[in-house]
Amino acid sequence: MAATVLQEMVSVAAAVELFRSLVPPARRVDVAMGEATGRVLAAGVVASEPLPPFTNSAMDGFALRWADVAPAAAGGSVTLRLAGESAAGHPYAGRVGAGEAVQISTGALLPAGADTVVPVEEAEADGATVTVQRVHEVGRHVRPAGEEVAAGEEVARAGDTVTPPLLGLLATLGVERVVVYARPRVALVITGAELTGSVSLQAGQIRDSNGPMLAAVVVASGGEVVSLVRVGDWEEATVAAIASAAAGSEVVVTSGGVSVGPHDLVRGAAIAAGFTPLLWRVRQKPGKPLFVARRGATVLVGLPGNPVSALSCFSHYLHPWLQAAGGRPFAWERTTRLLAEPVAVTGDRSVLLRCRLDGSLVHPLARQASNMLTTVTEADGYLVVEPDQERAAGETVELFLYPWGTRGTRGTRGPWGGRRAGGGG
Ligand code: AMP
Ligand code: MG
Repeated sequence: MAATVLQEMVSVAAAVELFRSLVPPARRVDVAMGEATGRVLAAGVVASEPLPPFTNSAMDGFALRWADVAPAAAGGSVTLRLAGESAAGHPYAGRVGAGEAVQISTGALLPAGADTVVPVEEAEADGATVTVQRVHEVGRHVRPAGEEVAAGEEVARAGDTVTPPLLGLLATLGVERVVVYARPRVALVITGAELTGSVSLQAGQIRDSNGPMLAAVVVASGGEVVSLVRVGDWEEATVAAIASAAAGSEVVVTSGGVSVGPHDLVRGAAIAAGFTPLLWRVRQKPGKPLFVARRGATVLVGLPGNPVSALSCFSHYLHPWLQAAGGRPFAWERTTRLLAEPVAVTGDRSVLLRCRLDGSLVHPLARQASNMLTTVTEADGYLVVEPDQERAAGETVELFLYPWGTRGTRGTRGPWGGRRAGGGG
């Protein structure tokens, strides 16, 4: 974490670089396998046992000695005495002797003495004997111990995600705990005297969108919400909320109050709580008032209050930051598609243009107003269109996918966001 000088009115790219420079070293935690799904391994896992743990049968059939049945390979048939059974979970206690066979099920331990399995379909048994018509080679249908994994072999590497199949593999190897990267701890402070969580609204009140929305997207980005408070636009209360949020979190994420109005108190409150401002305002639309500060190892990200601005800034800056703080690469999920309609950006701000996917096409939504969450509920991602840039229909574009991953799953409802007339930004 290097930055110390306040940057103002910077480009989107410069803001991304600042966030990248503020990624703390990922913490490691030891967790039980039951809590490991979806986490990133901070250390490789070495098998302490071979897999399979014992030599067993790949088929339902008969375990026998190749030396006894080899003549059947030349066209004859061989009849052996049926000496017993090795079932899954109930191994045959004895040893398969000359002229003997043991009935065996898939996965059952191959009895001592046997080296080959003849499947049920290639033999005839009458309860006392088994006659083999056709054999192929020694060791056929036998799964040797350690065939898949040798003891001492690394089965997962640091950086791997614990997926359901990896969870299954580690379970079968007897792994009970793994070392993963800790989820970065996020404390949310939602500012605004107009906000309420209640169902009934007083005059001038609105319900808080950002609190529940940011809490959900933090989790989608691999973070953990350690606290969520709502605070009115009062200086003392805002300072106190930021100070207590900073205790026990890697990042304080505030909502609202970072613009230039008389009730925008977050920047001053952050400074009063001991934070040093690093960034204020980015040449982007939406999300221009974005604010970043730092106190020791704790980062404060002041998101603008307009829900679309908050979510746009979250997706482009905080999402990769949280990913990286949780041991993943600092990155977005992106997809390359064709632009369905031309777009042009005038002015000096980059536009994070909300779009919907439709097969190979990217449709910019007609409405782009930053106060309207419907412009995001209808979108799969956004394009970053630079100032004074024109992009023609049919051009290849890179769409940044939102962290909650919808990918065109909402069906076709065209015209694209044009059900109501388009708005400004
Ligand atoms: P601010 O950034 O505080 O100036 O807020 C900008 C706009 O976003 C205002 O219209 C606020 O009422 C609205 N807003 C701020 N915070 C929230 C929130 N948590 N939920 C919904 N709207 C909000
Ligand atoms: Mg406000």
